[in-house]
Order: sequence, then structure tokens, then C-alpha cells
Amino acid sequence: MKLSFHGGAQEVTGANYLLETPKTNVLIDCGLFQCPQFCSLQNYDAFQYDVASVDALFITHAHVDHIGRIPKLMREGFRGKIYSTAPTKEFSVLMLEDSLGLLQKEADRHGVEMFYSEDEIKKAISRWEVIEYGKQFSVGELNVMFTEAGHILGSALVEIAYGDKKLLFTGDLGNIPSPLLRSYAMPRGVTHLVIESVYGDRLHESSTQRKLKLERAIEDTVHRGGTIMIPAFALERTQELLFELNELVEHGRVPSMPVFMDSPLAIKATSIYKKYAGYFNNDAKKLIKEGDDLFRFPNLHFTLKTEESKAINNVPPPKIIIAGAGMMQGGRIVHHAMRYLPDPNNTILFVGYLAANSLGRRIFDGAKQVEIFGERIPVRLDVRAIGAYSAHADHDALMEFTNATRDSLQTVFVVQGEPHAALFLSQRIQDYLGIESRAPNIGDGFEL
Ligand SMILES: [Zn+2]
Repeated sequence: MKLSFHGGAQEVTGANYLLETPKTNVLIDCGLFQCPQFCSLQNYDAFQYDVASVDALFITHAHVDHIGRIPKLMREGFRGKIYSTAPTKEFSVLMLEDSLGLLQKEADRHGVEMFYSEDEIKKAISRWEVIEYGKQFSVGELNVMFTEAGHILGSALVEIAYGDKKLLFTGDLGNIPSPLLRSYAMPRGVTHLVIESVYGDRLHESSTQRKLKLERAIEDTVHRGGTIMIPAFALERTQELLFELNELVEHGRVPSMPVFMDSPLAIKATSIYKKYAGYFNNDAKKLIKEGDDLFRFPNLHFTLKTEESKAINNVPPPKIIIAGAGMMQGGRIVHHAMRYLPDPNNTILFVGYLAANSLGRRIFDGAKQVEIFGERIPVRLDVRAIGAYSAHADHDALMEFTNATRDSLQTVFVVQGEPHAALFLSQRIQDYLGIESRAPNIGDGFEL
């Protein structure tokens, strides 16, 4: 059996792993390379393996860095089946269609032909089967099972058994406890673990601190009569924020003020969350049973249309604007940033991962001035971050997860992290747990 790494290797994005046995070839995830821009030119390169010989593709979850190259895979001749949970399939369609527009614009800017079209999204959907958590199924010689990953709704750990070996691909591992989702189960009997490392070298604050920080950021800004901008990712973070804002407002812990959910993608994703409420944890389910609409509260406005988004500017502060994209590499947040960055009364609150060189990261790192649409914009507002909103497990949680199946582990492959994070976690696993661990480079392959 051979495992090779075709993305997500010493980088966060582009996850794409190929597992080959004598009779069966499968892929785990097929993500977009997203650094430093939404789309890296790397995405245009042909896949470095025989796409037509791949029997199946397993998808861990619907973030673009795990699904964004699926239509390209179709274009290059993939004829196998795609498997994921039901929410992942539904989110993926939404995300792929949304990405198409952004990717097309970037392709035009670089003067290159876009690497997929609407057609290939449709082809992918027609080959896509949904599988419940905990249900075993087989593809060729492999026995496969999805279990909860606690990262975003529908996210899965992919377990693949072959002979006396059991491989586990974490995709992205959640940051538990999540306000909405159930936790992942600790792994057992795994011989080869492929583990993410986005926060492989860092720790998060606790979830109580996180709510307190959110409350403080709002109160301080209200006190100054300012506006709070929250760049948010369409999946999970946004819904978690709405959930916690809902609680703060309903318990009178922050004054009522207009909250704008200014992201068409997040608005659509939120309706998928409502549809799959059965996937929530018991606490969230209980609230729904008691009649609480988790994603609705007084003064919350969903601004789907462009005119509605523009009209937010006319609403006097204090107000809260939640808009995509999360790293500010595009989307409506960029327009709001031009207006609100120069005023010291305002606050920008980061709640997720910020890739090196993204606009969000530059502001977070303390840039006094940034360039947006060719204009120099001074950054004078209050910059804050709440790490615990990250949907990723931190260093300690990743170590604990690995340690849970230490007795059976032969090798750990640390992926989906910037080099420092991946190498740090890998070294710790070797030194502290005594397990062989590697942080592979792109193109590396290993006989298992
Ligand atoms: Zn993810």
C-alpha cells in the first residue's frame, strides 16, 4: 500500500492524498490551493497521478481547501464515485458554485483559461453518494467509515481499513467543545494517522474566555459609539457567532443593536444548518425543542442583495457587521473595511485562521496602512482576535488525539499546516509520544 501527498503538505490548503493498493486507488479530499490568494496558480497544474485509475474520492468536509479541485478532477477524467456525509455534499455544491465566480475573475486577471466550469460541478454531483456517520462501506479492497470530526456541520474523519492496517485521515479536527456540534470520538486501533496541524504550534483560549472576549469587544465598541466588523467564514464560525450573539442579546448581556449578516454565502449556508439540525449536539437540539430559533434574534438582518449591503452604511453606529471572506481576501468585508478601518472608534474582530499575506493577517499583524483596490487606507481601529472561535483543534488537543491511539500507531503524517506548525507538531509527536512522525512535502510518497 502506498500513500502519497499532493497538496496540504507543509501548507494549510490544497489537501489531496492518494492511497494505492494492488487493486484499488482512492483519494482523500481534493482541495484548492489558497495561499496567498483565494486561488494559487498551483491549481492550474495537472494532477501528478493517473486520475482515470482512481476508484473513489472521500471528502472529509466542505471547506474549499478540501473540495475546490473536485471539478478539475472531473475535467481530467475522474470516473469514480465521490463519498461524503449529506451536509458535506450540500455545502460543497454551494461552495463550488460560489468559488466558480471568484476563480473565473482571478483566471481573467492572470489571462489564463479557468480550470473548470459549471458542467464539471454537475458531473461531480451526479457521481456523489452520501453516507451516514458510523456506517461501514467498501470500495474495492478497502473498508471505509466516516465518523464525526466536530469541525463543521457534516465534517468527518475518514477511517480506511485494509488487511491488518487501519488508516485515519482527520481532515480538519474540530475545536471542542463546539457550541453546535458533537465532539469527535478518540481514535482506537489506528496504525497510520494523517493529522491536520493548522494550530499545531499554538493553543486556544477556553470557550468561556471566548464568549467573554466577544462580549467585551462589543461593549467597548458600543461605549465609543463605533462599528464592529467581523470577517467571518461562511461555514460554522458564522453560525457559532450567531448562536452566541443570540445568547448574549437574549440574556441582555449586550445592548440590542443592529446586527448585519452580510454574506449571501453564509446566509445560504445557515439555511442548510437549519435543515440538518439533527446533526447538532444535545444542548443545541434542546434549545431548538424549547422553541429558540438559534440563528434569529431581534435586530438581526440578513442582507442578501447588494443594495441591502450598501444600505448598512446609512445605519448609524453602534452596529455589528458580519461579512465574508474570513481572511478578507475578497467579499463584502473588503468594502466595509475601506469605510471603517480609519476610525479609531471602530473594532475589527478576527475569529478564524488568517493565512500569511492575506489582508486580514496584515491588519492583525499591526499594519498601519493597507492597500485596498489601489487605495491606501489607514488602519486606526481597534484590532482584536478570538482564537477560540477557530474551528480547529489546538496543539494540546492534537497531541491528545494522537496519544489516544498511541499503542497501535506505526506512523503519523502531519499535514495541513504551515511548515513551522507541521514540523513542530511532528517533532513533538516523535519526542513526547515516541511515535515515528513525518511532515511530508508535496509529491512525497510512502510505502506502508
Ligand atoms: Zn476546514
